[in-house]
Formats: sequence, C-alpha cells, structure tokens
Amino acid sequence: MTAQRIDGKAFAARLRERVGEAAAGFATKAGRRPGLAVVLVGEDPASNVYVRSKGKATVAANMESFEHRLAADTSDADLLALVDQLNNDDAVDGILVQLPLPGHLDEQSIIAAISPDKDVDGFHVINAGRLSVGQSGFVPCTPLGCMMLLTDRLGDLSGLEAVVIGRSNIVGKPMAQLLVDANATVTIAHSRTKGLASVVKRADIVVAAVGRPEMIGKDWLKDGATVIDVGINRLPPEPGADKGKLVGDVAFAEASEVAGAITPVPGGVGPMTIAVLLRNTLVAAHRNAGLTAPEGL
Ligand code: NDP
Repeated sequence: MTAQRIDGKAFAARLRERVGEAAAGFATKAGRRPGLAVVLVGEDPASNVYVRSKGKATVAANMESFEHRLAADTSDADLLALVDQLNNDDAVDGILVQLPLPGHLDEQSIIAAISPDKDVDGFHVINAGRLSVGQSGFVPCTPLGCMMLLTDRLGDLSGLEAVVIGRSNIVGKPMAQLLVDANATVTIAHSRTKGLASVVKRADIVVAAVGRPEMIGKDWLKDGATVIDVGINRLPPEPGADKGKLVGDVAFAEASEVAGAITPVPGGVGPMTIAVLLRNTLVAAHRNAGLTAPEGL
C-alpha cells in the first residue's frame, strides 16, 4: 500500500480563504476588522519568523494585525501591563503571547492574565477547563488543526482506536480530549509508556507529538492507519549545507508503505496551526461583538 498524502498546506490555504471571506463579512456588520495582537519578547530567531508569518497571514485574511515587540529584559510587570491594555482594547479580539518567553518571565502567570475570551491560543486554564467539560471556549490551534485533517479524511471517528503520543498541555492532552469527544477510543502514550510500538500498532489513528526525529517506523503501524505527524525536528546539516532537513516524528517514506494516509513534514500539520489561529480570532471577534460566528469553520 502507498499511503495517501494528507495535504495540510492545501487544506490550510482553503481554510484561510474561508476565514478571510468571513472576516470581510464581519467588517461589514461590525464596522471594524477582527484584530489579532501578537506579543514577542526578545529576539529568538524562530519566534521572530513565526510572528512575522502570523502578521502577514492575519492581514491577508482581512484582519488587523497588532505586533508588540518587547526587549528581552522586559519585566513581568511591564508584560502584564501590556496584556491588561490589550484585554481592554476593543479593537483586539485575540491575544497571542509568543512562547517560549525568556527564562526570567513567569509564563503561567502571563497566560493566566490574558482574558479567556481573547485567548485564541487556547492555553488559559479556563479554556483547558472548558474543553475538558465540553463547554465552548478556545481549543489550542495545533490539535484543532489535526482534528480538522482527521475528520476531513475519515469522517466519523466513532469507535476508532486512537493513540496520541505526547501529553503536553498544548498538543497531546487537548488532542486526546478532542478525539474522545469525537467518540474515538483513546490512549495517551508518553516517555514512560511500556511497549510503545505495540501500543501504536493497535491504532487506526496515530497522532505523534513527541519531538524525536523519525522515531516511528513502519513496523509500529497497523496496515491502513491514518497518521498525523505533529513533530517538527531539524536534523544536523549535511556537509556543505547551512541548515539541516526538517523531519517529523514519523519516518515518512517507510511509514507511507503501511499507512493509509499520512501528513508530511513540512506541509502537513504546520500550516494548519496558523490557519486555525486565524479561525479562532474570527470566532473571538464574533463573540466579542455579540454576533454569531459562521458555521463550518
Ligand atoms: P513537549 O516536549 O512538551 O512534549 C513531548 C511529549 O513527548 C511529552 O509528553 C513526552 O513524554 C513525550 N515523549 C518524549 N520522548 C518520548 C519517547 N521516547 N517516547 C514516547 N513519548 C515521548 O512537546 P510539544 O507537545 O510542545 O511538541 C511536540 C512536537 O510537536 C515537537 O516536535 C514540536 O516542535 C512539535 N509542534 C509542532 C507544532 C506545529 O505547528 N506543527 C506546534 C506545536 C508543537 P513525558 O511527558 O513523559 O516527558
């Protein structure tokens, strides 16, 4: 079998287009565009790239982008003051503080200070709680994007065996919750799981969110499994190259011999994250303006 390639890039482009159209519709009704504020503290090069591409994507989706770049030595108090200002700014529907923050800052208290109704990243404990008890809130962008790819590919997930590898608050745990809510039978595996390969082998759906290059080989997979690879790992550069290749947590080529469908890295889950961020911002804008968010986004 040769697995079907799940084209996250194309799916994300379609989602961004629909969000952009809906954002234009929102502007007509509300008299303003949806607004996303992104806060970057320090000069981390990867974060810099993410923030720039989020800003561009926000503008391309007919939304206002507010970028706040703060010095690496910004204090907790100054960052909290900015978050407070954004919480109270009616032009701002979504607030994203780019992680990781420099080590001297208290990440948890900064996230806790963001208004849950503007927490488009879905990292606030109130939104984690809402997801856990089945209330509508904001779901972290990466797992929600994975879910969109899964339902697009498989339709109804009822009764399917799903194994999520990784239990972080931003990917693994919310992913597992979304799969349970979709009536899959879910196992969460992690670094202490015994016999991981045989656990994964049971799965109709594998979501890998580990951060270990090409850890999952074809022997781990059930025939026809749907594989969502969240991992983004950079290999050491080949001689003469300045950057190493990006790979996922799954050995793509060999896994493709066994899986039914699989996301590539890059071009799979990665592009979904920004598209879902824009989707969450659009939903936030509707809620903040007392309007009903469009269906099916
Ligand atoms: P974390 O480091 O927070 O979590 C990794 C998880 O993997 C932990 O639960 C850890 O277990 C588990 N783990 C580590 N080693 C093993 C192992 N040998 N066997 C089984 N489980 C293991 O990472 P994140 O959840 O933040 O991210 C995971 C990956 O996804 C990374 O590569 C990251 O770059 C990528 N990512 C991609 C995004 C995208 O947009 N595509 C967005 C977010 C993340 P334990 O809890 O026991 O330590």
